[in-house]
Amino acid sequence: MSAGDKLFGRLLNRYPQPRQEPPETQWVQCFGLQVQLNAEGRVMQLTGPLRHLLAQRVPNARAPHLLDLLLPHSSLAIEGSPADWQGQNLDLDFYTLNGAPLHLRGWVQPFGDAWLLQLLDIGDLLLERRQSHNREQCQRLAMQIAEQLRLCSLTRLPDVLTEQLQNLAQRFQIPCLALALPDEQEHGWQIQQQYAAFDAPQLWQNGQRLGTGLDSLSGSAPQYLTLREHPRLQGTFGNADGFAVPYHDANGVVAWLLCGFYAVQQRAPDTTERDWQQLTAALAAPLLERLREHRHQLQLERLESLQALLGTGWWEMFSDSDEVQLAPSLANTLNLGTSRLSVQDWLEQVYPADREVLRRRLQDLRDDGLSMLLCVRLYRPDDGPEPIWYRLQGQALGLGKSRRLVGFMLDISDIKNQEQRAAAAHARLDNLIASSPAVIYVQRYVEGALQPTFFSDSLLPLLGWSLADCAPDTLVDRVHPDDRSQYFERTRLLLREGSVRARYRLRDSRGDYHWLLDEAKLLRDDLGLPVEAVGLWLDVTEATLAAEQVKQSEERYRILVEDSPAMICRYRPDLTLTFGNRPLAMYLELTPEQLPGMNLGNWMSQAQRDAFTQRLNQLSPEFPISTAEINLQLPGREHAWWVWSDRGVFDEQGQLLEIQAVGRDNTEVRRSQQQLTQSAKMATLGEMATGLAHEINQPLNVMRMAVVNVLKRLSTGEVQVDYLTDKLNRIDSQVQRAARVVDHMRVFGRRSEIEQHPFNPALAIEGTLALLAEGMRGKGVDLRISEAGFDVQVRGHVDQLEQVLINLMVNARDALLGKREGNPAFKPWISVNAERDAQVVRLWVEDNGGGIDPRLLERIFEPFFTTKPVGVGTGLGLSVSYGIVENMGGKLSVINATEGARFCIELPIVQEDQITR
Ligand code: ADP
Repeated sequence: MSAGDKLFGRLLNRYPQPRQEPPETQWVQCFGLQVQLNAEGRVMQLTGPLRHLLAQRVPNARAPHLLDLLLPHSSLAIEGSPADWQGQNLDLDFYTLNGAPLHLRGWVQPFGDAWLLQLLDIGDLLLERRQSHNREQCQRLAMQIAEQLRLCSLTRLPDVLTEQLQNLAQRFQIPCLALALPDEQEHGWQIQQQYAAFDAPQLWQNGQRLGTGLDSLSGSAPQYLTLREHPRLQGTFGNADGFAVPYHDANGVVAWLLCGFYAVQQRAPDTTERDWQQLTAALAAPLLERLREHRHQLQLERLESLQALLGTGWWEMFSDSDEVQLAPSLANTLNLGTSRLSVQDWLEQVYPADREVLRRRLQDLRDDGLSMLLCVRLYRPDDGPEPIWYRLQGQALGLGKSRRLVGFMLDISDIKNQEQRAAAAHARLDNLIASSPAVIYVQRYVEGALQPTFFSDSLLPLLGWSLADCAPDTLVDRVHPDDRSQYFERTRLLLREGSVRARYRLRDSRGDYHWLLDEAKLLRDDLGLPVEAVGLWLDVTEATLAAEQVKQSEERYRILVEDSPAMICRYRPDLTLTFGNRPLAMYLELTPEQLPGMNLGNWMSQAQRDAFTQRLNQLSPEFPISTAEINLQLPGREHAWWVWSDRGVFDEQGQLLEIQAVGRDNTEVRRSQQQLTQSAKMATLGEMATGLAHEINQPLNVMRMAVVNVLKRLSTGEVQVDYLTDKLNRIDSQVQRAARVVDHMRVFGRRSEIEQHPFNPALAIEGTLALLAEGMRGKGVDLRISEAGFDVQVRGHVDQLEQVLINLMVNARDALLGKREGNPAFKPWISVNAERDAQVVRLWVEDNGGGIDPRLLERIFEPFFTTKPVGVGTGLGLSVSYGIVENMGGKLSVINATEGARFCIELPIVQEDQITR
C-alpha cells in the first residue's frame, strides 16, 4: 500500500485497516489462519493470528459450518465437502468483526481423519489490483476528457464540457457534478458548468456565484465534506454533503470539481486521491487553457479593431538589425506591403520636413533610452492633397540585453487638419474683424459697473484708441454730449434685460464722431449673477448719413410734389389712390389726407371708367407711359377735362403694380374750343341761310301752286274728292319736307354733347346733304355722292362731323362759284366718297374748283386765315374742322388733285369689341 493511498484512506474517513505484519515474518511465527474441518466441512478448530478478526454469522454455535464464516459469494468456491476441494486454490472472503471482508487464499490438505485448511491474507493484493485497474480506467477517462476539451471548437466548448461532466458523473454515479472556476468579476468562485442526473435535484446553475466559501478548504487535496464539519459550505452545497477536488497550477488552486450528494468512500472506494486529481486536472487544465486562449483571442481582436479604428498601431525597433516591425494593421493602412522593414524605408514614408527630427529622436531612443513623442506628416497612400498626421510615441522597455524599443503611431489627421483649419479660420476671422468697421468688446461686471477688459484689434484702425484709452469714465467722455443719456440707458438696459441694442456717437482719436450701432449681451454665471458683457460696435456712420440724406431729399421731393400746381398722384391698377397732392385734393374738394383709399373711378361715368381702365391695360413695361384727355364729373362743376399722363410701375414679372400720374386741368381750353365750334356752326348756319331759304321755298311754292289750283277748282265748283285728296297729300308731303329741314337745322344748331359716342359716319354725310343738297343743285353744282358699301363706327359727335363736311362742301362751292364767275361755261362738281381699311375710315371731299395756291397750303388750317373778302370769310371753318377731327382721334388733310382741292377726313374705326355703349 502506497503512502498516498494510506493518506487517501484516512482522508476518505475509512476505518483503519488492521495492522499487519509482513507475511514472511508471520509465516515464520505461524500461518495466517488454519481451520480444521471435519469431513462435512464443519469448523473444528481455528488457529493462527487472523482468527481474532473473524466474526461468525451464527454466534456461539458449537461447530459452525465453514460457510457460516464466509461471505455468500465465496460459497461457490467450496461446493461439496473438503475432500472435493483438494488441489485447488481457494479464494475465500470471511466475515470480520469490523465488517470489512477478509480476503484469504489457501488450500486443503488431509489432517488425520479431518482436513486442514491453510489460509493466507491476500486483501492487499486484491486491493492493489483493483486500484491499478481503476487507475488505468481513470487515466483513460482523463485522457479522453482532456482530448475532447482540447480539440473541440471554442463555440462547442461549453457543450463538450457538459458532455464530459456527464461522462464523469455516469462513470462514478455522481448525482450532481460541477466545475467551479475563479469568479472573473468578484472575489471567489463561480460555476463554470454543471451537470445533474435526471433524478437528482439541481444543486447548481451555470454561471452561479459561489462566493469565497471554497477558499476555506485548505485546497491542497480532495475532501469529503460533511456539513457538520464545514458549515460555511452550506452556500455551496446546500443541504447536501459533498466532495470537492481542487486543481492547482503555478498560481495555486484555479478550479474545483464539485460533487453533490456524493459519499465518495462508499461509491468509489477504489478511486484514489491521485485519480480524482487527475480527472479534475483533465477537465480543468484544457478548459482553462482554452478559456485563456479565448480571452487572448478576444483581446487580440479588440486590440486589432481598436488599432484599425484609431488608425493606430504599435511599432518595435530592433537595435541589432536596424529594422522596425509595425503592427500588421498599421502596415496595411500605410500601404507598406510588409510589416517588417528597414528604419530607412520607414523614414521614407515621412515628409522630408519631419524626417530629420524623427531620425534624431529614434537615435536618442536607441542610444540613450530617451522616450520620444512627436507629430509627423506621412505621405498619403492614395496621394491625396493633404498629408496624414501621425503622433509617434516611443520608449525603451527593460534594461540591458532584454531592452526593447517599442512605441505606437496614432493617426491624428482629423485633429491636425481641423486644428489647422480652425487656426486658418481664426486668423481669417481676426483679419476680418481687424479690417471691418466692427469692434468686438468684453466688459467685466464689477460691483454694478461694466469695466472694459477686451477690444478686438479693429479698435485702433476704427477709432484710433487702445484698451488703455477706454477706462469707463473716459469712455463716457467720448460719447457725443447729445447721446450720453442714451449711453447710460444702454448700460442700465443691458444689466436689466440681459441684452441691448443702441445707437450713439463716439469720438475717435482725431476728434471726429462715428455713429456706432452697439449690440451687447450679458453673460451670467450659474447663480444668474452677471459676469461680463460681450458686445459689438458697428460703425454705421455712412449708413446713418446716407439715410439722413435720403430723408432730406425725400422731404424736398415731397415739398415739390405738394406745392406743384399740377395734380400729382399715385394709384393702384384698381384706381384706388395711395397718394394725392394738394391740387388734386382741391379739385376733388377733399384734403390730401383723405385721398389715400379713395377710388378715382368715383368721379367718372361708367363709360369714362371703362375707357380709362382700357387705356391702363395698354400700359406695358416697354411702353409704360400714356397721355390722354380725360373727362370727369367733379363736385360743384358739371364736367372737367384733365390732360392726364400716366406712368405704370411694373414688377419683375411685368405685372402692373402702381401708376404714377400727373394731370392738368384743361376744362377752360376745352370750353373755349366748344364755344368756338358752336360759333362756327352758327356761322355755317348763317351762311346756309340762302340755301335754306331755297330749301324751304321749294315746298312752299309747290304748296302755293296746289292751294291756288284747289281754290280755282272750288270757285268753278268742279271739285272732286279724289282731286282734293291728291292736292292735300302733296301739300302734306311738302310740309314734312320743310319740317325735316327745319328739324335738322334745330338739331344741328344745338350744342354738342359732352361725351363722345360711336356713330356711323354715313349719318353725317346724309345730314349734310339734307341741309346742302338742294341749295347746291339750285346753284348748278353737280353733287357726285357715292354710296359707302360698308358699315363702320367712329367715336365723336355726329353733328360735329356734319359740321366738318358742311365746311368742306361750302368752301368747295365758294371756290366753284368763284371760278364760274370768270367762265360761265364751267361745269362745277363736288364729289363725296368713303373708303376704309382695317383701322381707319377715310371720307374724301373733292371739287374741280382749281385747288389751293400751293404757297397757302400750309396755312389754310390756321384760325382766321381766309382769302375771302372781309365780311364774307371768317377764316375759322377749316381751323375748327381740324380741331374737331383731331378730337375724334383723326386727321384732316388736303392735297391739290388734278382739277381742284381734295380734302381727306381720316378717322379711327371703333372696333366691335371696344364699343361700350
Ligand atoms: P373761309 O372760308 O371763311 O375763308 P376757311 O378756313 O374755311 O375760311 O378757308 C380758308 C381758306 O382756304 C379760304 O379762304 C380759301 O382760300 C381756301 N379754301 C378752302 N377750301 C378751298 C377749296 N375747296 N378750293 C380752294 N380754296 C379753298
